[in-house]
Amino acid sequence: MKSIQWRLVFIYLTLVLIVMISSGTFILWQIERYEYNKIYVELKEATDIIQNNFFSSQGNLKSSWNDLNTLVWDGNFLGNKKLYILDSYGNIKFPDSQMDEERWNKRVVYEAKLNKEPSMGRPINVLEGSTTVEYVDYASPILSSNSEVLYIIYIRASTQEIADNIAKITNIILIASIGALFITMVFGIYFSKTLTAPIKVLTKRAKEMAEGRLDCKIEVKSNDEIGQLTGSFNHMAEELNQMLLAISSEKNKLETVISNMTDGILAFDRKGMLIQANPAAYTMLKTDTMEKYFYDIFKKAGLELRFDEFIKMKPNSIKQHIMMIGDRYINACFAAYGREKGEIEGIIIVLQDVTEQKELEEMRKEFVANVSHELRTPLTTIKSYTETLLDGALEEKEVAIPFLEVINNETDRMTALVQDLLELSRLDNKQVKFNKRSINLIHLIEDSVNKHKIHAQKKQQNMQFNTNIKKLFINIDPDRIYQVFSNILSNAIKYSPEKASINIGVLDNEDNVRVFVKDTGIGISKEDLPRIFERFYRVDKARSRAMGGTGLGLAIAKEIMENHNGKIWAESEKGKGTTIILEFPKNN
Ligand code: ADP
Repeated sequence: MKSIQWRLVFIYLTLVLIVMISSGTFILWQIERYEYNKIYVELKEATDIIQNNFFSSQGNLKSSWNDLNTLVWDGNFLGNKKLYILDSYGNIKFPDSQMDEERWNKRVVYEAKLNKEPSMGRPINVLEGSTTVEYVDYASPILSSNSEVLYIIYIRASTQEIADNIAKITNIILIASIGALFITMVFGIYFSKTLTAPIKVLTKRAKEMAEGRLDCKIEVKSNDEIGQLTGSFNHMAEELNQMLLAISSEKNKLETVISNMTDGILAFDRKGMLIQANPAAYTMLKTDTMEKYFYDIFKKAGLELRFDEFIKMKPNSIKQHIMMIGDRYINACFAAYGREKGEIEGIIIVLQDVTEQKELEEMRKEFVANVSHELRTPLTTIKSYTETLLDGALEEKEVAIPFLEVINNETDRMTALVQDLLELSRLDNKQVKFNKRSINLIHLIEDSVNKHKIHAQKKQQNMQFNTNIKKLFINIDPDRIYQVFSNILSNAIKYSPEKASINIGVLDNEDNVRVFVKDTGIGISKEDLPRIFERFYRVDKARSRAMGGTGLGLAIAKEIMENHNGKIWAESEKGKGTTIILEFPKNN
């Protein structure tokens, strides 16, 4: 009996059955009582008549037993009732003994004798032939003047008619009950259906909601409790729908943010299984396919990390690891996430590529070391020469003068170094103001070449600037670009032997202008070539220093070129010569 409908029908039927049984029993009991009372009155009247007519007030028989026989048998006084008169010892006095085979109800006789008043027994069934007949027994005592029981009038009356009537009424009640039960069932089914139908609709709708269909409403047909429930249900579905829309929009936003983040995100559940990974995480872990589990993912990236270590973390706490994946430094932040209760649900890892920061840091350290080193060398020289001078060399002019020249040169070199450092620092901090204007590049190169020719001639080098172009105007800061040319030309002179040739040329391309300075000098090896634009990088430190180089010239040139949106690079072959190329964009 699972459904409410059948439960309601069952309740109706049980109620009707209880009502029918109780009311039927009550009716039958009332009828029975009435009928048996009636027969009691009848029997009492009959015994009164017998007592008055045949017995004196002292309880003695007035006439003969025969007279009584006449009354009983001939006058049909008692109908189908049987009359017996017993003495106080229970011996039958009337009718004569041949009729005493029947057994009277001794209990009724005993009660009448004891109580000295009439007594009627409960109906009993007596087998007569093949049928049973119902009787009641009635006994009334005849008392003497001193209230002694002399005789007992005993009547056995058939109540079969009453029994038959009661049986008929019982049948009628039974049939009525069955009819009532049937009608109840029919109406019960109908009424319970009207109650359960809206509940069924609600159940169906709830199932649909669970499957994610939240947008259709149920019609409210009544204003009763079920109607109100339907209304509340519709309201709840609408609220849920709104809430889900808001959540999914938030989720979309979050997913867009996560997938477009430059930081890698990995989320794991409490068993270490991957839930989410954004494209940046794939890039940082250098993989196209992610493994399923934490351990395998990091093992593939060459790292041995144990998930247990992180899942034991407190919620909202963070652990950091810097790890090398390939040639990149990755900073991984491990954070445990969980419910409010403090139960950990899993781990989120944020991966950040910190290679550039690391490199910058390394560069900074290297730079500081280089600066200290570059300053220490001249300072040591100055210090030792000064001490020697103070120790007495000052007195000998021919020793003192070369010493002082060394001190002077070292001071110049330090000044040059400090100036270059300051220049670089200003360029780095964007403090240098570029005064760009349209300048004839040919003039600028000619000026610079002419100035450096004197130095080249000292080494019998052949410095040539060959071009047919007379005018080539580009937007540049002439002082800064002049500085770049000076550095490149002086390098060409410095790193080329005597009698070498240095050729300068210009190429007027469609989008850009290229200036090249080609020498037949010592050249640069393949390994050193990409590094000559780094700060303090020198192929041959001693040679550079001897020539008054700081190792910062090309680094400054590169900064200046980049500030002009231009480029600078070198092509070289060791032992054969070097070409430095400058490229200026035309629309700068
Ligand atoms: P430096 O002050 O030492 O000249 P630069 O920054 O100007 O510093 O140059 C860096 C290094 O590049 C030099 O030390 C030198 O080894 C190399 N170099 C630059 N120009 C040339 C060139 N034309 N031929 C050979 N080597 C060169």
